[in-house]
Amino acid sequence: MLDSDVQKKSGIYAYVLDDDERHLNIRAFDDNMKREVYEKQNGICKMCGKHFEIEQMEADHITPWHEGGRTVADNCQMLCKECNRRKSGK
Ligand SMILES: [Zn+2]
Repeated sequence: MLDSDVQKKSGIYAYVLDDDERHLNIRAFDDNMKREVYEKQNGICKMCGKHFEIEQMEADHITPWHEGGRTVADNCQMLCKECNRRKSGK
């Protein structure tokens, strides 16, 4: 019967959908992305231009997450905690 084919297809579809949602919904950059961006910036904060250790920095979405910015390295910049706090306006 065709049952196994249908199951296979729905299995693939669910996987793609899950993968997509994972990218759409995850807001926090993981450590690998942070490290990658940190090294690309040579440890320099994008806002104040000073050098920091990675532990003193936070990952920031260039295009804000709530405006559809994705949680990918291309949309990530590393800011020092102070600049990040200032940027978020709290
Ligand atoms: Zn800074």
